[in-house]
Amino acid sequence: MRKGVLKIVVPCYNEEEVLHETNKRLLEVITNMEQSGKIVSGGVVYVDDGSRDKTWQIIDELSKEDSHVSGIKLAHNAGHQNALFAGLTLASECCDMAVSIDADLQDDTNAIFEMVDKYNEGAEVVYGVRRERTTDTWFKRNTALGFYKLMSVMGTDVKYNHADFRLMGSAALKALVSMPERNLFLRGMVRTLGFKDADVYYDRSERFAGESKYPLSKMMNFAVDGITSFSVKPLRLIFSFGIFFIFIAIVAIGYGLYSHYIGHTIPGWTSLLVSLWLIGGAVLLAIGVVGEYVGKIYKEVKRRPLYVIERTENLK
Ligand code: UDP
Ligand code: MG
Repeated sequence: MRKGVLKIVVPCYNEEEVLHETNKRLLEVITNMEQSGKIVSGGVVYVDDGSRDKTWQIIDELSKEDSHVSGIKLAHNAGHQNALFAGLTLASECCDMAVSIDADLQDDTNAIFEMVDKYNEGAEVVYGVRRERTTDTWFKRNTALGFYKLMSVMGTDVKYNHADFRLMGSAALKALVSMPERNLFLRGMVRTLGFKDADVYYDRSERFAGESKYPLSKMMNFAVDGITSFSVKPLRLIFSFGIFFIFIAIVAIGYGLYSHYIGHTIPGWTSLLVSLWLIGGAVLLAIGVVGEYVGKIYKEVKRRPLYVIERTENLK
């Protein structure tokens, strides 16, 4: 059984209302695990994502009160994914495992115990998976469902009902933070790493206080980012549409000529009908071909690592 140093990374954007409570609960979890010997030691790393309220002052105070607490202040609002990435990057240098969790206490802090158990049993990535969406509104529940469906249809591998509440061991962390891409979609990136993984189920509650920092517009952007940072499937779709249109053009030629000869047409209709589909098909096909090349360029510029090493033994 392995065990090590744990860091809990918490991105915070205008979270003054919840921070004290969040800190209290996270420290409880950490002291409990330190005492029971589940971990060697633990700490919380808050990342202030350019908040405009008292978030940083609170983090600063908390870190002075308790040596378990540390803080990173970003110069401007970089967005949740970037803030989390910053936290994980710095944490990866001083921990054996890191848990990422939102500041608003929607994710069950008690699930961290089980995550650490799974890590100690050998899992390198442990996904926090929410059980039911009973606390969400009908709208949020269904838009979220649509989000996961759309992702998988468009070729992005995401884990159903898992957001960014997860534990990663240092090997997985190092691999993640070495990814040089600029458009982050962490939950998808972690999936591409491989490693032995495990799931921990929990009930998601309402936000403890404050408002969601993810309005619908941000959520839509996130979904588009998730698809376009991961998959060239939309480009391939254009190609398929092109083929489909040309197929329709062939059917239209048959139908047009047939109607023409039995005299059911007004002059010009046949040629218009046929050229419409044929030109449409040809244009889509051409865009599709260009798309294939754009897709290749896209994969090259991402400069993702070609392989991920889990461990080496006796390598001198
Ligand atoms: N967050 C952030 N930067 C942003 C927006 C959000 O660091 O620009 C943090 C926020 O403080 C919270 C987490 O990301 O800890 C998730 O945000 P929120 O709970 O508002 O999203 P929701 O749960 O409503 O999707
Ligand atoms: Mg939330």
